[in-house]
Amino acid sequence: MGPRQEAQPALFCEFSLEDHVPPDYLLRSIDRFVDLSGIRAYLADFYSHAGRPSVDPELLIRMLLVGYCFGIRSERRLCEKVHLNLAYRWFCRLDLSDRVPDHSTFSKNRHGRFRDSELLRHPFETTLARCIDEGLVSGQRMAVDASLIEADANKQNSSPKEDWDARQINPADAPRAVREYPDVLDQAAFGAASEVQPKFTSHSDPASLCTAARKGPAFFGYSDNYLIDTDHGVIVDVEGEAEQKTIRGIVFPPNGSIRQAEAGSTKTMLRRVKARFDRHPERLIADTAYGTGPMRGWLVDRKIAPHIPVIDKSGRNDGTWTRADFEWDAENDQYICPEGHELKQVRRNYSDPTRGPTGKGTARYRALKEVCQACPSKAMCCPNADARKITREEHEDARQVARQIARTDQYVISMKPRKKVERLFAHLKRILGLNRLRLRGPCGANDEFLLAATVQNLRKLAKILPAPQQLGKA
Ligand code: SF4
Repeated sequence: MGPRQEAQPALFCEFSLEDHVPPDYLLRSIDRFVDLSGIRAYLADFYSHAGRPSVDPELLIRMLLVGYCFGIRSERRLCEKVHLNLAYRWFCRLDLSDRVPDHSTFSKNRHGRFRDSELLRHPFETTLARCIDEGLVSGQRMAVDASLIEADANKQNSSPKEDWDARQINPADAPRAVREYPDVLDQAAFGAASEVQPKFTSHSDPASLCTAARKGPAFFGYSDNYLIDTDHGVIVDVEGEAEQKTIRGIVFPPNGSIRQAEAGSTKTMLRRVKARFDRHPERLIADTAYGTGPMRGWLVDRKIAPHIPVIDKSGRNDGTWTRADFEWDAENDQYICPEGHELKQVRRNYSDPTRGPTGKGTARYRALKEVCQACPSKAMCCPNADARKITREEHEDARQVARQIARTDQYVISMKPRKKVERLFAHLKRILGLNRLRLRGPCGANDEFLLAATVQNLRKLAKILPAPQQLGKA
């Protein structure tokens, strides 16, 4: 047995943080891809030219990246951890004797100038630019999906909407998340996409929406939308929105969050990726929640193939002819039946054009009753009706494109990379610990989603492109 270990401070100490952090440690791996050289210029207008020098914004961003990398999202705890952990100090460029910023300075910057300048999008985009430079993003095939993240709001601390209106809130006293609420009321992503009013509104985070999506007790949440490039599962854009689903009898929407909002977020992300990085996918892979007629129409108009399952209820199981057996005549806005007769929406000219077909919603095409009654194929066409009727959805042409795509081998191949988005959400919740948001309000949710996505892309880069010393070790 050797001598008892006694604490005995050395008079002189030779210690190098650089040597202390192992070559294959996660933070060292991702450090090679962190580029924050542009943020000082980016933030220059948000700092005063007078007064005491500020804390270096790069240091704060590096600390945030450490926090989201290891699931430490409390600023107070993050400051403690960075103070104590040598590898965290190394990543933040702090030497052993350097002071860690106080948590209050930290959160003040984060909620103030970082948010005003949309700074957190900057590290996300520089990381994505690096992924593109390294050849990890072809931009040809993209997939989109959303996942529900619980808001920092308690169901008990909520009121029906009428009571909320009567609360007479003074904006000067209201917390930040409440002050942000009026700004997002008209945004599709935060409830304006639906005419259904939420039954409850949270007092602490009114922009979050009440949901029963997990088939358990209702809670408040936000939806995290990811647009990824399917080559290597790199996140090319991220967008937050409020989540809403059925609660106590309100049956809306049928089986997902607000579909119009999800579609709106997808359009925003696709436009942004095109504008910032000139990436325009030839196909978009998504689940049925994104398969609304307008969304498909929007994609087809932009030459993006919708690899999205089509819910088709036009099929029949009694052996009679389906809509597919009728020929569509777009020029004359009519269907032609197998016996060569016309099915039309209207058969006369209205003097008031507003009484005619609007081109919106579901259109109904009918054959003439006397023609069908005398038809030899009536038993195969409409055995239980006087005349045959066929419905046609708005954006049916785009649906038809999606139906044809769904019969191809490429579509079968596309369904596999769609799972990559789900894996990223699983990683986000299980490894990065983002099951519940810590920041409140739509800006807080977006900040958290952006930082988490940045860290996920950094980890992806580190995994796909290991450092030479790591390769040597392997
Ligand atoms: S029943 Fe009417 S719609 Fe059907 S094939 Fe005969 S004529 Fe055409």
